[in-house]
Amino acid sequence: MLIKVKNLRKEFSVGGTLFQTERETVKAVDGISFDIKSGAALGLVGESGSGKTTVAKTMLRLHEPTSGEFIFDEQSVFSLLPAELRKLRRRMQIVHQNPNASLHPRMTVMAQVSRPLKIQGIGDKSTHEKQVLDMLQRVGLNPEHARRYPHEFSGGQKQRISIARALITNPEFVALDEPTSALDVSVQAQVLQLLRRLQSELNLTYLFVSHDLGVIRYMCSEVAVMYLGNLVEYATKPKLFANPLHPYTQSLLSIVPIPDPKLRHRDRKMLKGEIPSPKNPPKGCRFHTRCPQVMEKCKSIEPKMKQIEEGHQVACHLYE
Ligand code: SF4
Repeated sequence: MLIKVKNLRKEFSVGGTLFQTERETVKAVDGISFDIKSGAALGLVGESGSGKTTVAKTMLRLHEPTSGEFIFDEQSVFSLLPAELRKLRRRMQIVHQNPNASLHPRMTVMAQVSRPLKIQGIGDKSTHEKQVLDMLQRVGLNPEHARRYPHEFSGGQKQRISIARALITNPEFVALDEPTSALDVSVQAQVLQLLRRLQSELNLTYLFVSHDLGVIRYMCSEVAVMYLGNLVEYATKPKLFANPLHPYTQSLLSIVPIPDPKLRHRDRKMLKGEIPSPKNPPKGCRFHTRCPQVMEKCKSIEPKMKQIEEGHQVACHLYE
């Protein structure tokens, strides 16, 4: 087991503007736990605003956690001192959603892909160039791309540069935060194929964050479904797709496009309304304001995560 997340919480304090003196607490992630085995890919799925990106960023300490634990290869990441954390960063990396925002517009590809090597003190200038050229080739770019700037590339190529930069220090764990959602549909599949190939060639462990269960199905071996800061279902891929238990998972799954025309007219369980604000989440089950199967007790009692069978857990009063 490489990754263990235990009872992770992340709260943000917001407000305190000219017109609003009181600050409010937003519980973006409210006590979630999961494991990822070495070499596996866990999909973290949910709508925008569910807190899934905050989980990835907090694990890598791009946000400081409010409480909880993240054990990486038997080290407690949240207890590390800055120098220890810097050392560990070569083994854990992140690929962000939008390469336009994450790449520096005035640095060449060579300069930005080699930067993590410089920060980590790995090798020297003479070795960096060869490492960067090898990595560019691995992600499907050419050596001549190394001297160019980000604006000279397409969206798919820019995401390949971001992936090269994340992998240059030879990490074991990579958090992928919606890595294809900013790309044209035509190039999404190519980048997903690349990520799958790299996972198997380099034995990478992934946390794959996405709002799209179709993408998660292609990429991941286990799936955690997140709603308003909590996990609501957690299962192996075959179990989740064959038998989704939580009404929220059932809705997400019913809107995944299916190429088979015979199945196009299946029952779509469209979700009503928007995800509520995490500043003021509903009492009881957080999904009760949108749940088609809501019962009276759902409005006051929060369901706990329960194992239904080996490799399948759900938090819903329907299964008690
Ligand atoms: Fe729906 Fe109740 Fe289950 Fe929540 S606990 S998902 S409201 S049935």
